[in-house]
Amino acid sequence: MNPRRPTRPVYVGDSRTGIVQIGGGLPDSAGRAAAPAPVSVQTMTAGYTHDVDACVAEIDRLHAAGADIVRVAVPEKKDTAALPEILARTSVPIVADVHFHFQRALEAVEAGVHKIRLNPGNISDRAQVVEVIRACKAAGIPIRVGVNEGSIVERRDKQKRLKELGAVFSEHKHGYLLAIMVTKLEEYLDIFYEEDFRDVVISAKSMDAALTIDAYTEISRRFDHPLHLGVTHAGPRETGCIRSVVALGTLLANGIGDTIRISYASDHVGEVEDGLELLYTLGLRERKGAELIACPTCGRIQVDLFTLVQDVRRTLAERVDLPIKVAVMGCVVNGPGEAEGADVAVFAGDRRGIIYVQGERVANVPEADILPRLLDECLAFQERVRRGEARLGEKKVSIVPPDPLGELGSGWEKMAAERARSTPITIRTT
Ligand code: SF4
Repeated sequence: MNPRRPTRPVYVGDSRTGIVQIGGGLPDSAGRAAAPAPVSVQTMTAGYTHDVDACVAEIDRLHAAGADIVRVAVPEKKDTAALPEILARTSVPIVADVHFHFQRALEAVEAGVHKIRLNPGNISDRAQVVEVIRACKAAGIPIRVGVNEGSIVERRDKQKRLKELGAVFSEHKHGYLLAIMVTKLEEYLDIFYEEDFRDVVISAKSMDAALTIDAYTEISRRFDHPLHLGVTHAGPRETGCIRSVVALGTLLANGIGDTIRISYASDHVGEVEDGLELLYTLGLRERKGAELIACPTCGRIQVDLFTLVQDVRRTLAERVDLPIKVAVMGCVVNGPGEAEGADVAVFAGDRRGIIYVQGERVANVPEADILPRLLDECLAFQERVRRGEARLGEKKVSIVPPDPLGELGSGWEKMAAERARSTPITIRTT
């Protein structure tokens, strides 16, 4: 892991929602020093903003899932008209996503939104951009400048458009897109600098993971603004997850990125869950809630581990908010080594499970009782940690295979039986 790239921080939110700092390590636009903030997770509502009740319910759901910032689309005047009520009824910083109509940006600022997102491909008229910049400056809110691969090609100038489209479909597509993204970003940001406006976040999303990595890497060398990472139109969660995690994980591991949005063509709660898990996995955020380790199962399994793991995952997410490490292992063959460091662990055997809490064996229960007993132990351990009677990760699970008490009828017995049945290999020499 490379150290985080220092950036000029911006602040999103107000005293009611709390302020989310994006970036840090360099002085902010007021000259104040600010250490880098944890990488924040963003998402966007999928419903209509003007449907206030539904929009508020969706924002609350995304916030409860862990979103630090939520963006809403404001394509029409009725959407910006809904913002005052939405802002009054929610408690997370809200970003207005503006496409095509700069008036929507002005209305959103007037409504009290916490940040504006502009796309240079859609709002390029200099006078209009200046008007939005001045409104944001007066309101003290930042602007994200988001260049997207899909909207980067010129729209108004026909000659220029033909030339750019020709290049985009050339064999040098990747290099050309990269160059045009950076060039348009530079031209656009010049307007901001001329207005002495520096509270800017940059994004440069593509559907292509490799182009996304190259674009953000290039931009990180040229600008000191915080970067909002994302892969656009990544697809459904099943495939979009790989695409997003490859691109965002690579950049974050290289120290690039201050806020992220994973985007899926499915329930956006999944975007938040996967974004947070990515940051936890890279050690860029302090984990909230339990961490689950589970074996993939193999021919030694003697319980329905897949169902058990899903039930444990769901139950822990609902009931445990401390970062307790929980291991669910199919047997004691590899289980103890792989579950090392777990606070609470279960090792399954022949339709049973032995449960350990910080190295101490506390129960041997039939399969049907594994889930409730494991949860009870997790909740009891969580309470002990809260009371200061135990510490997370203090004692390791330490049982030594084979099956310590012979209670499980575990994989070791099966392996021993197999070994006894197998014919020794003989090596012939001539
Ligand atoms: S813990 Fe046991 S059941 Fe699970 S994969 Fe390892 S050997 Fe197989």
